Amino acid sequence: MQIDLSEAEVMLAQLGELVLKGEEVVIAKAGKPYLDLVPHQEHTGPRLPGRFKGRIQMAEDFDEMPEESGALSNATQCGACGAMAMVRMDGCNLCLECGDSKCG
Ligand SMILES: [Zn+2]
Repeated sequence: MQIDLSEAEVMLAQLGELVLKGEEVVIAKAGKPYLDLVPHQEHTGPRLPGRFKGRIQMAEDFDEMPEESGALSNATQCGACGAMAMVRMDGCNLCLECGDSKCG
């Protein structure tokens, strides 16, 4: 809604209630929009660029998988226990889960 400045002056309290309920209130002066009446917001002071400088860091390898899980990615299913933990080691298939070895 738009309300003239002279009217707004006498019913500012009611207008405040309307704004808090979500009503858009524009105060007009001489028939032209003059002021937007909006709810107060905390922390709207001047921005302080670089306030967190040096306090927030993005690790360069944040999107890389750790080496360990990479090694297990070639693991195959163990015939003995069924775990995907059968790896080739020293020319033998060894299950990291149950210790089953094809070179027994
Ligand atoms: Zn196994």
